Amino acid sequence: MAKKDYYEILGVPRDASPEEIKKAYRRLAVKYHPDRNPENKKEAEEKFKEISEAYEVLIDPEKRRIYDQYGHEGLKGYFRQGDFTWSDFTHFDDLRDIFKDLGFGFDFFEEIFDFFTGGRRTTTRRERRTSRKGEDLRISIPLSLEEIAKGTTKKIKIKRLEKCTACNGTGSRDGRLSTCPTCGGTGVVRKVSRTIFGQFIQESTCPTCRGEGTIIQNPCPVCGGTGRVKKEKELEIKIPPGVREGEYLILRGEGNAGIKGGRYGDLYVFIQEKPHEIYRRDGENLYVDLPITPAEAALGVEFEIETIHGKKLKIDIPAGAETGTLIKVRGEGVIRNGRRGDLFIRLVVITPKKLTKEMKELYKRLRDIEKHELGKDWKERVRKLKR
Ligand SMILES: [Zn+2]
Ligand SMILES: [Zn+2]
Repeated sequence: MAKKDYYEILGVPRDASPEEIKKAYRRLAVKYHPDRNPENKKEAEEKFKEISEAYEVLIDPEKRRIYDQYGHEGLKGYFRQGDFTWSDFTHFDDLRDIFKDLGFGFDFFEEIFDFFTGGRRTTTRRERRTSRKGEDLRISIPLSLEEIAKGTTKKIKIKRLEKCTACNGTGSRDGRLSTCPTCGGTGVVRKVSRTIFGQFIQESTCPTCRGEGTIIQNPCPVCGGTGRVKKEKELEIKIPPGVREGEYLILRGEGNAGIKGGRYGDLYVFIQEKPHEIYRRDGENLYVDLPITPAEAALGVEFEIETIHGKKLKIDIPAGAETGTLIKVRGEGVIRNGRRGDLFIRLVVITPKKLTKEMKELYKRLRDIEKHELGKDWKERVRKLKR
C-alpha cells in the first residue's frame, strides 16, 4: 500500500509554516490520544503514530526538504529501521507541553512507551544496543547530457566508515567489556519530574555508553574503540541512459559499516544534470534553436550538425522556412528504457542588423521587388497573414 502524504495526514498545505504544522499536530494529538478513544484504542494508537511521524518530518527543515524533493523514499536513511518507529521521534517535549496544557495527569511517557512498543521495550533496546545498521551515505554526481544520453560508467571515490579489521569491529583490544556504571547496563537513563499534573518520566540514551549498556575496558588502538575506521573506497557506478535530475541509484551495502556486527548502510547516488551549451532537454527529446538569415530562409540551406551521440549529420533546411519551423531528427534524443527520443531543430529567422554597403544595395533591391508580392496596402497584408 502506498504511504500517505505527510501534508495530507496533518491536513496542512504544502507551504504550511512551522506554526501551522505545530497547530495541526496539536489538534490531532489531542483528538487521537488513546485515552480519549477507549473504544477503539488500537486505531487511535496507529493514528497517533502516523501524525507523529508526519510531524517529525515536516517540523524539521532538513527532513522536510528531503521529503518535498524525494518523497518517502528519500527519508529511509533518517529512520533507524528504514521506517519510522517511536525511537525516531524527537519531539516528546512538544507532546508533554500539549498534554500538560490540557491537564492530562498521568505518566505520559511511561504510557506512550508501553503501549507503542507493546511491552517489548527491553527487547527493542537490547536489539539496538547489540547491532545496528550503518548510516546511509549520499553523494551526487554531475553528468553531462552526452553521458546521460547513452548511459555511462563513473569511477568515484567515497569516504566511508569501514569495519576495523584490527578488532573485527568490536572496538575492544582484547574483547573484554564491562557493565556501564552510569546506567547499570540498561543503556537508558530516566529522569523523573513531578508536576501538579502528575509524574513525568523521560527516558534518554545513556551518555556514558551511548546506549550500549557496556563500556570497553581496553579500546582498540586502531579505531579508538568505535569499531570503525574512515577509509576511501573507489567505486564504479553504472549509470543507465536517460536518468533525470534528482533521480537516484541505491548501492546496497556501500554506506558506513554497521555497529557491533550490524550490516553496512547504503549509498544513495543522486543524479545531477549539467546544463548543455547547445541542447535543451525535455523528457527524452532534445531541442536546439538554430538561427538562419532571411536569405537562407527563403532559399533553403544545408547544415552539418553533430548530435548528442556524436553523429555528424547533414540537415536540409527547406526553402520557405520560418521562425518556429521544427526539423525532426528521429532517434537522436536521449535513450531511456530502450526508447530513443528525437532531436528537434527549431529555426529562428534573424534579421541582420549590421549591413555592409553591398548588402544594403541588395536588400534595397529586394525590398522593392518584394513589395509587389505582399502588396502595398497594409490591410491587404494583414489579411494575407491571417489566411
Ligand atoms: Zn550506560
Ligand atoms: Zn578497532
